[in-house]
Amino acid sequence: MAKKQFKAESKKLLDLMINSIYTNREIFLREIISNASDAIDKLCYIALTDESVGLAREDFRIRLRVDKDMRTLTVSDNGVGMTKQELEENLGVIAHSGTLGFRKELEADENADVDIIGQFGVGFYSAFMVADRVSVLTRKHGSETAYLWQSAGADGYTIVEAEKEEVGTEVIMHLKADTEDEKYSEYLDSYRLRELIKKYSDYIRWPIRMEVEDYRMEPTGEKDENGEDKTEYRAYTEERTVNSMVPIWQRAKSEVTDEDCGKFYMERFHDYEMPLRVIRVSAEGLVSFKAMLFIPARAPYNYYSKDWEAGLALYSSGVMIMDKCADLLPECFAFVRGIVDSPDLSLNISRELLQHDRQLKVIATNIEKRIKSELKKLMDEDREKYEQFWGGFGRQLKYGVVGDYGAKKDLLRELLLFPSSRDGGKLTDLKGYVERMGEGQEKVYYAAGESVEKAAKLPQAEPVKEKGWELLYLTDEVDEFVVQILGDADGKPFCNVSTEDLGLASESEKAETREKEEKLRPALDFIKETLGDAVAEVRLSDKLRSMPVCLGTEGEITLEMERYFAHFAQNEGEGIKAKRVLELNGEHPAVQTLFAATATDPEKARDLTKILFAQANLLAGLSLEDPQEYTSLICKLF
Ligand code: ADP
Repeated sequence: MAKKQFKAESKKLLDLMINSIYTNREIFLREIISNASDAIDKLCYIALTDESVGLAREDFRIRLRVDKDMRTLTVSDNGVGMTKQELEENLGVIAHSGTLGFRKELEADENADVDIIGQFGVGFYSAFMVADRVSVLTRKHGSETAYLWQSAGADGYTIVEAEKEEVGTEVIMHLKADTEDEKYSEYLDSYRLRELIKKYSDYIRWPIRMEVEDYRMEPTGEKDENGEDKTEYRAYTEERTVNSMVPIWQRAKSEVTDEDCGKFYMERFHDYEMPLRVIRVSAEGLVSFKAMLFIPARAPYNYYSKDWEAGLALYSSGVMIMDKCADLLPECFAFVRGIVDSPDLSLNISRELLQHDRQLKVIATNIEKRIKSELKKLMDEDREKYEQFWGGFGRQLKYGVVGDYGAKKDLLRELLLFPSSRDGGKLTDLKGYVERMGEGQEKVYYAAGESVEKAAKLPQAEPVKEKGWELLYLTDEVDEFVVQILGDADGKPFCNVSTEDLGLASESEKAETREKEEKLRPALDFIKETLGDAVAEVRLSDKLRSMPVCLGTEGEITLEMERYFAHFAQNEGEGIKAKRVLELNGEHPAVQTLFAATATDPEKARDLTKILFAQANLLAGLSLEDPQEYTSLICKLF
C-alpha cells in the first residue's frame, strides 16, 4: 500500500516537533483529549435531533487505556468519528485554526524558539512528541465502515479499511523508547496520567474515564483472636471518571483565577498570548446565563479583514449549540472572544431560529453593557493596558461609532481616545479634554492630517496654540466621520481648525476683516480667476499667524474625507471632492506683495498666486498636481 506524503508545511512542523528538545511534551495529552471532546460535542449536538445516534447525554465519554507491554496509550471517544476523506483532510495537513498562528510564526523564523510550540494549540501532531507511531481507528456516525490511519512520523501515512464496533475515534500512541533524558514510560503510569488530566483537562465537560489503581481494606479470610474478620489494605483497580467535568466558566469566580481563565482562553481560542482582560458574567433573572469573555491582547493579523469571524461560543447547559454566534455580539465589540452558557435556551431550536430568539437578545444586550463597562473600568484603572487595547482595537470602536447610522455612538463615546497636543501627541479621552478646556474656550478643537506631526503643523492651528489651548489630532481616515456622528464632546461642539470659524475673533474684529476684504475685492477676484475651478473661494483669513496661506474647505466634505473616499470607497467615492478655500494672511509680506502685483504686474501676480496656492496645498499635506510648474515658477524668482 502506497504511503501518502504529508503536505510540506505539516512536514516541517512534524520535523520540528519530533526532533526538538522540547520540554513541554506533556501537552500532547491535552490536545488529543480536546479533540475527543470536540468530536463528542458534535455528535451530541446531532443526537438532539437525530434519534439514530442512539446515545443519551450521559452515554458520552472519553476513555484512556494503557498497555504497558505494548507501550501504548490509547485515547478513545464515542464522538462523531471521521470518514476516510476527513481523515485525509484533517490529519494529512496542518491548516486548521489552532495551527495557523503557529505556522505564521514558523514562516517568519525558521529557527523559531521551540518553546513557542507550547503556547499554541498544536493539535493532533503533538502526539508525535511522545510516540514514534500513531494509529487512528475511526468510524463516522452514519457509516458502517471504519478506517485505520497510521503514521510513523514525517515520512507519511497510510489509510486502510478496518473494523470498529462503535462510532467514534481511537487514537493509539505507541510511545517512544525511554532515553537517558526522556522517560516516555511516564505516560503509561496511571498516576501521572491523572495528574496531567487534572492539570490540563479537568474542565472537559465529558467524563474522562480510566482504570485507576487504589487500595482498600479487604477481609483476608482469617479471623483474629476475638473472632473478628482480619482485614488488610489490598490493591485493586476500577474505572473512574478522573476529571471534575465542570466547565471552567461554570465554576465560581472565587475558585478560578484570571490566570486559569487566561490559559483556558489561549487553548480554546488558539491565541499565543494571555488575554488583556477576562470578563465573567453570572446573570439571573429574565434569562439566566453565565459568560466568560476575553479581550485579546492584540488584534489577530486577519482581524480587520473579511476572514474574521466574530461571535461567541454558545452553550446550553454545557452542550455546544454554536461555535460562533454572531448575534451575541455587537459589531463594535467583534474582537471579544468567549463563551455563553444558558440553561434557558431551547436546545432543539434551529440555528436560523436562534437568531430571532428573544432570550438571545436579552443576553446580547446584557453582554454589550458589560463589555462596555469593563472597558471603561480598564481605561480608568489601568490606562497603559487600555492604550494597548486601543492600539489593537481602537479602530474597531471608531468604526462602531460610524456604523449603523451612529446607533452605538453613546455606548462608545466614553471609550474613544485621540492623540492631542498636550504632551506631544499622547492619547486623551474626550472627557479629559473637556475638563482641561481653558478660560473662555467654548469648542473642542481638532486638526486633521495624515499623521500627528502633519496635523500639528497646520497653519490654521496656530491661534488655538497661541491661546495655550489643547488640540486633538485626527489622523485616521474614519476620525472626522466619528466626530461628525458624535456631534459634541460632553456638550461642547467640535471645531475643525481647517474648515470652521475658530470662534476667537470678536464681532468687531470680524467686521474689520470683512471691510478689509471688500477693499481687496479686486485683488481677491484676480486670484480666484487665476486659480479657476481649483478653489471655490479666496478669502482673507483671521486664522493665520506665521504662514502666508492655508487651504481650508467649505461644506460637509473635508480634505481628510476626500482622502478617505479616494482610498476606501474607490468606485462609489470617486469624484467626491472637498470644496477648497484659499485663505490668505493679509499681514504677511508675501501676500501683500501679491496684492500689489495684481494691480501693477498681472503676469507676476499670476505666478505668485500659483506659487502661494501650491504652498497652501503642501501645508495641508497634499501633493502638487504639477510639481514641475511649481519648480519652474520658484526658479524664475532667482
Ligand atoms: P484542531 O483541533 O486545532 O483543528 P488538530 O490537528 O488537533 O487541529 O485536529 C485536526 C482535525 O482532525 C480536527 O479539527 C478534527 O476535525 C479532526 N479530529 C482530530 N481528532 C479527532 C477525533 N478524536 N474525532 C474526530 N475528529 C477528530
